Amino acid sequence: MTTQRIRDFLATRRPDGPCLVVDLDVVRDNFQAFRHAMPDSAIYYAVKANPAPEVLKLLAGLGSNFDCASVAEIEMALDAGATAARISFGNTIKKERDVARAHALGVSLFAVDSHEEVEKISRAAPGARVFCRVLTDGEGAEWPLSRKFGCVPQMAVDVLVYAHQLGLQSYGVSFHVGSQMTKVDAWDSALADAKRVFVSLAKQGIHLQMVNMGGGFPTKYLRDVPSAEAYGKSIYQALRTHFGNQIPQTIIEPGRGMVGNAGVIKAEVVLISKKSDNDDARWVFLDIGKFGGLAETMDEAIRYPIRTEHDGDEMEPCVIAGPTCDSADVLYEKKLYPLPISLSIGDEVLIEGTGAYTTTYSAVAFNGFEPLKAYVI
Ligand SMILES: *Cc1c(COP(=O)(O)O)cnc(C)c1O
Repeated sequence: MTTQRIRDFLATRRPDGPCLVVDLDVVRDNFQAFRHAMPDSAIYYAVKANPAPEVLKLLAGLGSNFDCASVAEIEMALDAGATAARISFGNTIKKERDVARAHALGVSLFAVDSHEEVEKISRAAPGARVFCRVLTDGEGAEWPLSRKFGCVPQMAVDVLVYAHQLGLQSYGVSFHVGSQMTKVDAWDSALADAKRVFVSLAKQGIHLQMVNMGGGFPTKYLRDVPSAEAYGKSIYQALRTHFGNQIPQTIIEPGRGMVGNAGVIKAEVVLISKKSDNDDARWVFLDIGKFGGLAETMDEAIRYPIRTEHDGDEMEPCVIAGPTCDSADVLYEKKLYPLPISLSIGDEVLIEGTGAYTTTYSAVAFNGFEPLKAYVI
């Protein structure tokens, strides 16, 4: 959503070139909404969604913890004021020397999904707490994360037993239902799997303490999405169903849901043209595309709301593309995007819901285009 503060910023600063503007008031509201909706769960903000120092500092001050995927992200969270005790190294794919560096910085919570990763952690971070990620089917997610991360629940049992044997503290189970998850009940079957892992380990005398319920909380693009409140209700109901009166500690790791709707990208129409005289669709080329930060338009997965100054006018379906000389740099073509007929070259457009997964996805200088600039206000 384009807040008044963002409008005022763009009107007075008139930044040149495409840029992201993030409104910290919206991030604060999102944090409070998560805390209110899931008061019994610790919030670990997924740093990769938007690692702007101002965002991390705000969240650190509000009491957030941080889910980091690399040593660089850990350092950013520490710089923002988080202590190492509030940081989880949540990537299941780590170099052993990075585990050692994280350990030296005081981080003691690590994700694993394989025996091989457990061995690295036992050597580089002896005695640390580990949680094992289990696969989910990703159904209902607009940006699924299945397959690459996690193992089947039965293997998670073996991995956590192995971690225990190697002197680590087998601490819990994690999963991620898939990003931009629009079904509030998607956590149910993953929590059932987590409970089965708890039971199997308890039979072997290993008592897990924590379920990391990951991210997946959506942001509003073109369609409305359920509130944090609705997710909280559904998730806590599922926890009661599967864990009864022995509910473990829980963690949530919102990324997109924390920052997505806090950011707006200002862009400019560079060219509007047709491919033939009788072409049905106009091609609208913007000064930002897949390589400038809009990578999540891959397969047209994420459909951003695009506002123009002519939104009341008659619309027609358009192809929307980026400015680079790569034919993959087309945002929407399979499903045409309605834009006003009166839109013309040089007009500004606002791409909403772009606070998450944009700046960090932008290339450094593909075709000489600068990385996406960000202003955090
Ligand atoms: C990316 C990621 C998240 C954040 O996911 P969202 O869908 O953006 O909320 C959380 N946890 C882990 C481990 C991740 O990799």
